Formats: sequence, C-alpha cells, structure tokens
Amino acid sequence: MAKITLSNLRHSYLPNPGGAEDYALKKIDLDWEDGGAYALLGPSGCGKSTLLNIISGLLTPSEGRILFDGRDVTDLPPDQRNIAQVFQFPVIYDTMTVRENLAFPLRNRGVAEPRIAERVAEIATMLEVQDMLDVRASHLSPDNKQKISMGRGLVRDDVNVVMFDEPLTVIDPHLKWKLRSKLKELHQRVRATMIYVTHDQTEALTFADQVVVMQDGEIVQIGTPVELFERPQHTFVGHFIGSPGMNVLPVTETGGKVTFEGHAIVLEGKITGANGNTELGIRPEFVALSDEGLPAHVRKVSDVGRHCVVEAMVGDTAVKAVVEGDVPGQGAAVHLNFRADQTRLYRDGWIATEMGT
Ligand code: ADP
Ligand code: MG
Repeated sequence: MAKITLSNLRHSYLPNPGGAEDYALKKIDLDWEDGGAYALLGPSGCGKSTLLNIISGLLTPSEGRILFDGRDVTDLPPDQRNIAQVFQFPVIYDTMTVRENLAFPLRNRGVAEPRIAERVAEIATMLEVQDMLDVRASHLSPDNKQKISMGRGLVRDDVNVVMFDEPLTVIDPHLKWKLRSKLKELHQRVRATMIYVTHDQTEALTFADQVVVMQDGEIVQIGTPVELFERPQHTFVGHFIGSPGMNVLPVTETGGKVTFEGHAIVLEGKITGANGNTELGIRPEFVALSDEGLPAHVRKVSDVGRHCVVEAMVGDTAVKAVVEGDVPGQGAAVHLNFRADQTRLYRDGWIATEMGT
C-alpha cells in the first residue's frame, strides 16, 4: 500500500490542445493517503475514468507526475504499478471457472497454492458466491459476472490501491446496497487504499471517509460526507449533494449588505472577496417556516416520507424548505427563516463568507 500523489496533472485527448476546454482534466493536485476509503464523485463526463486510468497507467497524462510513496511512476506500465482496477463492466475469462478467475491474479504473481485456496475462499464468502466456484464464468448472469470481476480486484492483498470505476452499474438495486456495505466492511478490515468512482451521491457518501467531488475536469471539494453537506465550497457541491440540493438564490450585494428579493439577509459571517456574480446558498434543512421572516407563499408540497419538502415563492424565486410535522397547504401565505450560521454567500460559484466572523 502506498500514498498516491498527483502533481500538476493535466490531460487532453487531443494531439494539440489549446484552451482549458480541450482538457478532460484541467489541473489536479491531490494526495490519496495510504489506507483511505475515497470516493471520486461527479457527473458523467467530468473526468473520473480519465483520472483513474492515469493512476493505473492505462493512460499517460499530457502533463504532470504520479508518485507512489514519493517514487515517480508516471512512466511505468500498469503491470508494474501493483494496482487492482475494477471496471464498469465485468472483465473475466469466460472459459475459466469462477474459482480459476478469482485465483488468476494470484497465480499470475506466483502465490503459493494453499494461500490461493485460502484467499479465494475468503473472497467467495464475502461475495456470497461459494456455490458457484466450479461454474464456468460464461454461464453466469451479468451481475454475478460483475461480482467475480470485483472479487478479482479484491483477491490480492499486496496492491498499492484498489480502484472501482462505477462497479455497480450492472448490478440490480437490492444487491447494490449489499455489495456497497460489503466493500465498506472489507475496507475497515484490510485498510487498503480504495478509490471508488461513482456519479451517485448515495454510493459515494456511504462508502467513503473522504469524498473528492469533481466537475468538468476539476476538483471542487475534498471532504468528509458531513463537510460536503455542511459547508459546500462551491454551489455545484451544494446542489449535487443533498436531496433536495442546496437552494442557490440570486442576491444583490452592496457595501457588505446582501438582499434577496428586496429583503436584507444575515449571513454566517464576513464576506470575502469582491466582484463576480454573487448567489446565496442555504440548504432546505435550514429554512424554517415561522411567524416572521421573508413573506412567501407555498407553491408545492412533496411528501418524501420522513419529512415534506415545501417549495415557497419569495417574490419571483422558489425556495425549498424541509419541514417535519404539519405542513401548510398549497397557496398558503407563510414566512421563511434562514438559519444565519448556515447562510452563505457564493461568488462565481465559490464560497465567499467566513464562518462565524
Ligand atoms: P467520466 O468517467 O467522469 O464519465 P471520462 O473520464 O470518461 O468521464 O471523460 C472525460 C472527458 O473526456 C469527456 O468529455 C469524454 O468525452 C472525454 N473522453 C474520455 N475518453 C476519451 C477518449 N478515449 N478519447 C477522447 N475523449 C475522451
Ligand atoms: Mg467513467
């Protein structure tokens, strides 16, 4: 296992890239600490697979270096990087049995047969495929094939990192949940560095200790699930994480005072920076309906089970509030209260208030 450092990384698939828009990865500087459980989260096309393939050596970056424990591996081929990678679609040998497939990465490295048998049994138990060990892989259902593919990624215990690239795409929803918890459990047991790539916030937040959020070839925030929820550094993170996402509201800012639809707003703290398009960010969980506050009327109420999401209009702008207990009906006049310590200003997307100052 190793600490993985990405330094000044950029990548373009074009032979002669020009501006930033030609780069699938814009500029990445990032340390993956040894033993961490990471998720790499972002919408389709933001560069997640490109980043993984650069770490594993399937791709050589246009610029920058990759270090394992300080050693430069940028020019090493994949088989010399000691990495296990699980892809979106199963990579297994159809003509081999499940047992042979699971054993393959170990046999390939000359591991002794008794140890191979032990590891295969362990992994098969974890994935609950013990009864399929002697079945030929070509006879498996797609999700069992993917389970075996994951098993092949997990069977070695000497790798620098195990990387999963949206591995649960072809798995049915019920099994998805189970496999995800298994992976988490496994990480806690073996403490190998794991990078789990997904576009699904639930997958990312349940698996990872640290979530790396990407947008458009850039990292916008790295943090624990709680940090991403509580203090999004960018409106994109606020919007992408949470259900519903953070309210991002148009405001005007003059002389350090912020108004929303003509009403003065109290922020969490001092405003930073100047210039740039400003917006207000507040999560629906921190908008309360009360007797005083911003006058609004209810446009829509959605019952989502544990609570209701009330969408209320303040002037021309819709604001969502998460409400537990009694909810007003559609059209009702209400007042909204923004919890000040959770109300932040964003400038050109980036956070522009200081906490509690
Ligand atoms: P993600 O895994 O987050 O969906 P990718 O890393 O696959 O994103 O893609 C990032 C960007 O690079 C996208 O714009 C995609 O179209 C482009 N891209 C990915 N692979 C290639 C390739 N082999 N050739 C050219 N462009 C590619
Ligand atoms: Mg991808």
